[in-house]
Amino acid sequence: MRKTERSTNPPMGPRTSNLTLTRNNLLGFSAMLLLIFTCVSALVVYIGREQNLRAEAEGAFYVSKALQARERALGVTLRDYASLGETYVHLHQQVDTDWAYANDNLGPSLYRDRGFEGVFVVGPDNRTQYAVIEGQASTTAVADWLRHPVDALLEQARSNSGDTALATELLNVQGVPVLVAAAPLLAATDPHVTIDAGPPSVLIFVDRLAPSKLLALGEEFGVQGLHALPQASLVPGMPAMPMVEGDLSAALSWTAPRPGDYLMLALIPLMGICALLGGLMTTRLLRRAHLAASTLDASYQSLQSSEAALAASEARFRDVAEASSDWIWEVDPQLRFTYLSERFETVTGLTRSECIGRPIDSLLHAEGDALGQLLRSPNRRARASLQCSYVAGDGLVRISRLSVREMSGRGFRGTASDITDEVAAQRRIAYLSEHDALTGLPNRTRMQTFLEGRLKTVPTLKEPLVMLSLDLDRFKGVNDLLGHGAGDHVLNTVARRLKQCLRDDDLVSRIGGDEFVLVIAAMTGQDEAETLCKRLIDCIEQPIQVDEHEVYVSASIGIAMAPADATEANELLRYADIALYEAKDAGRSTWRFYAGEMNARIIERRQLEHDLRNAIKHDQLSLVFQPRYRIDGRQMVGAEALVRWRHPTRGWLPPDMFIPIAEETGLIVALGNWVLANACTVAASWPEPLFVSVNLSPVEFQRGQLVSRVETALANTGLRPSRLELELTESVMLDDAKGALQTLQELKGLGVRLALDDFGTGYSSLSYLRNFPFDGLKIDRSFICELTDSVDDQSIIQAIVGLGRALSLTVTAEGIETPEQLAVLENVQCDEAQGYLLSRPVDATTLFGLIRAEALFRAGQALE
Ligand code: C2E
Ligand code: CA
Ligand code: CA
Repeated sequence: MRKTERSTNPPMGPRTSNLTLTRNNLLGFSAMLLLIFTCVSALVVYIGREQNLRAEAEGAFYVSKALQARERALGVTLRDYASLGETYVHLHQQVDTDWAYANDNLGPSLYRDRGFEGVFVVGPDNRTQYAVIEGQASTTAVADWLRHPVDALLEQARSNSGDTALATELLNVQGVPVLVAAAPLLAATDPHVTIDAGPPSVLIFVDRLAPSKLLALGEEFGVQGLHALPQASLVPGMPAMPMVEGDLSAALSWTAPRPGDYLMLALIPLMGICALLGGLMTTRLLRRAHLAASTLDASYQSLQSSEAALAASEARFRDVAEASSDWIWEVDPQLRFTYLSERFETVTGLTRSECIGRPIDSLLHAEGDALGQLLRSPNRRARASLQCSYVAGDGLVRISRLSVREMSGRGFRGTASDITDEVAAQRRIAYLSEHDALTGLPNRTRMQTFLEGRLKTVPTLKEPLVMLSLDLDRFKGVNDLLGHGAGDHVLNTVARRLKQCLRDDDLVSRIGGDEFVLVIAAMTGQDEAETLCKRLIDCIEQPIQVDEHEVYVSASIGIAMAPADATEANELLRYADIALYEAKDAGRSTWRFYAGEMNARIIERRQLEHDLRNAIKHDQLSLVFQPRYRIDGRQMVGAEALVRWRHPTRGWLPPDMFIPIAEETGLIVALGNWVLANACTVAASWPEPLFVSVNLSPVEFQRGQLVSRVETALANTGLRPSRLELELTESVMLDDAKGALQTLQELKGLGVRLALDDFGTGYSSLSYLRNFPFDGLKIDRSFICELTDSVDDQSIIQAIVGLGRALSLTVTAEGIETPEQLAVLENVQCDEAQGYLLSRPVDATTLFGLIRAEALFRAGQALE
């Protein structure tokens, strides 16, 4: 099979849905966004803090710078005063307060103008010898006022010489920064001034940086809010530096500009807005993507399911293509094979390479040009199928059902299913449905079709169509006596013989057990038909060998002809049947042509049949009794019950008119019961030992529990069994001798008498008489009516009587109409007699009268 070209997709494994994927991606994206935002925020905070720190460091730098500058300025001013020479003279060599304070050389102006809170001169013995505190002359020692020792400072000042003879120090004086500068008083280079030996006095200036001064100092250097405070009051984040290096008790602090805070204040809300917008956008994006992903998922799923369905369908197609006997073909628009599937070779036994390129109709043949028509016809159906045959590789003809589908202008494609076996089976079924399984002859269906076909060719009076309805005589006996195998053999033989008697284009059919119908065309007329019938019967009557037996059967034939009798198949069949019926009635082994009146008889029969059903129900039947006498002494011994029917429109009907109908229709059982019951009832009223004789039909033997019915009749009426005689004919034994014997023995067991009726007319065999438990036999009327004075006739009667006697049977002669006949019978010592001469059949009342009359007569005779 050719594979459909498709991109080879990876096998469909478990797959993460777009929805999940998108959700994950978007969550990742959101997380990333958050991370970026956090990082930026951290960065902003970091930068802000850095800026703050830098600003703080800058502040500290400028505070230091301010203090240094102040310290330097203090030092410069101090040195100016200390190196003035006059100061050496007025405050070292002597302490001239007038010069110093009053003349304000080192007096209040230093406080007022320069802001130095303390001006001290410490003598060589380190005692304060001049002091001006906050512009006021004082005697307070410098260390006391400062509350801080100054010895180290003094030492340092004195140790330095020249321009560097200066010592400055920043002191923490009770939480207030105090700048202290000390410099030795230097003598001027004036030769008039003598320089003392020993340590010089030291001039000390104190610049107390009170809050306002400190604030102003800071501002001078761009540092706002500079102030001093105890270290403990410092708040975290407050810019600060130790007031004095190594002293942690006090600190300087200032208002640091916090550029980082501005940055953060400016950026963080902005970023917040950005984050919010970002969040909103993400949410929106998330929702959209979610939706898109859902849609994508749905479509993917549907795609997936349709792909799965497609894959399944492909797999299914492959499986089917490989498993079935079908092969696939394609032809181009010129109807030449372009493709044949692999299975083509397996199924057909042909090679693909040889067939590709060949026109399709060179391989496949349909009835007529059906294939070409189907493919070429513009109004072909979109899909069509056609039965085609081809010669397979093994040389045998095979049959395929071709399905055709157009490939939109590119030719056709389809499958070919091998249906050879199917067609063969169908043919077999069709054959069986039209043929008889046993003989192989056409059956009724086939015969009817054939007949209808022949009638269509319109037979003429000159060349009529002849229809023979043939029925085997005595076939049932073969089946019963020799078994069904023998029966089948006989039927097959007859079938063969019948066929041999006909031409090939005539028809012999078997339409029932032993019924055949023959249809013969182009006959010259009745004579030829009669000749044929004779030949058929002769053929059939030839002995048939069944094992060691020679079986003889014969046939009766009914003939109907078209167009003389009918032109319709069914009518023709019916008429042939009617004629057959007549032939059988006429004594079998013969033939009858259909005649119009036969039909009338049949119709009458049907009517009678219908009426008979009502007759039994509506009490239209009655019994007459015909007495039977002992010939010797003319004494009545009993009477035969004979049934009559008072038909509502046709009057009294004899049993010959309706007993056969009752036998055919099965009504005989109901009728027989009625007769038995009534006969026994009537006979029960007769004086002993008179008996009643009741006729039984052979059909009653075959069905309807005869023994129990007889038993019931006796029981119901109370008639003693020995007073009931049953008359039966030889045909009882003929149909089923074994079964009949058993039934007869059972009846005998009841105690009833059995008589063989119509002796001499049938196929009587002595063995029957010998082996069957009969009490008597009745010589058929035909022997009696032909009875004349002739010695021959008498001798037959004599022989029968002799036979009866030999077998201890009571022999009755019936149908005695003349005294002569009676005389002959008396002569041959026949036992009993019955006939119009002695008494016609009479009704029960009349018979009763006869019985009484006879009884009186006997009584009278006895009296005489
Ligand atoms: P079958 O048993 O042979 O009965 C004798 C027939 O001969 C009777 O005719 C009777 O009326 C007639 N018959 C008697 N004596 C003479 C005579 O001297 N001359 C002539 N020509 N005929 C005579 P039936 O009653 O018409 O019966 C005809 C047949 O019908 C009987 O023949 C019997 O086979 C049958 N049949 C009569 N009644 C019954 C019945 O109740 N059941 C059955 N199954 N068959 C019956
Ligand atoms: Ca009889
Ligand atoms: Ca009889």
